[in-house]
Amino acid sequence: MKIKEIQAKTILNHVRQPDDWFGLKYNMNLYRGCQHRCIYCDSRSLCYQIEDFDGEILVKVNAPELLADALPRKRVIGTIGFGSMNDPYMPLEKQYQITRKCLEIIAKNKFPIHIITKSDLMLRDLDFLKEISQVFCAVTFTITTADDALCKKIEPGSPPTSRRFEAMRILSEAGILTGISLMPILPYINDNEENIRSIARRTAENGGKYVIPALGVTLRDRQRHYLYTKLDKLFPGLSRKYIKNYGGDYFAQANDYENLEKTVDEECFKHKLKLRIPKYDPSPEKFQLDLF
Ligand code: SF4
Repeated sequence: MKIKEIQAKTILNHVRQPDDWFGLKYNMNLYRGCQHRCIYCDSRSLCYQIEDFDGEILVKVNAPELLADALPRKRVIGTIGFGSMNDPYMPLEKQYQITRKCLEIIAKNKFPIHIITKSDLMLRDLDFLKEISQVFCAVTFTITTADDALCKKIEPGSPPTSRRFEAMRILSEAGILTGISLMPILPYINDNEENIRSIARRTAENGGKYVIPALGVTLRDRQRHYLYTKLDKLFPGLSRKYIKNYGGDYFAQANDYENLEKTVDEECFKHKLKLRIPKYDPSPEKFQLDLF
């Protein structure tokens, strides 16, 4: 993969539609492209206009300066999201520390944040995460499979599930709000009850507070093409099944959808996990009520 340093023009985007999933007001992409190379990644879709998603990573080296300039001028305090089209803790972050520098600026300006990641590298930044959690900080781990071997196949560039759960435990013990995004669920790969039950149980055991499920996977243009190419190599015969069952569909629903949905509900109820992320609210009493 080529690495290219660039100077971005802006960094903090305003989220225009109300964001029901994560409650974001602002969003940042500090990198373009992603080293985690998940076989199902939606960011390969044409609509995001990332020409060479798997061949080149653009590093926005001036992002911290842009953020330091933009944040004090924002009149509305609202949650800043990290990690919508790349992972803010991909391996390159060890060297560049752009996410870390941005967290420092956010802590100074007292804004709330939400991070979504498949890495445990955020433990390096526990100091700033703790400081920001005085306002609001949620760290969501994407966890799609309880099985590290399967994880290696479908998310080859990211730390395995077991390390994500271990990081979740450390965050939770440090008082940081954390939970999981259970998506995508790929038909014939991770769409089984045992997987869902195991993930929910381990989320609770490691101090996670919520599970955000989406029981299926989008199949858009370049994303679909890349996924099918990988299926051919990793799960012989499966791409033919996908083509037969989903053709040009935009979305492939998990098999036995209703039953899996029921399983998610049952497991979350059993382990006292919420099916949504508690959102930032400037009133402390409201936040506490929402969480518990
Ligand atoms: S971590 Fe997220 S952005 Fe990166 S390849 Fe995987 S799905 Fe895509």
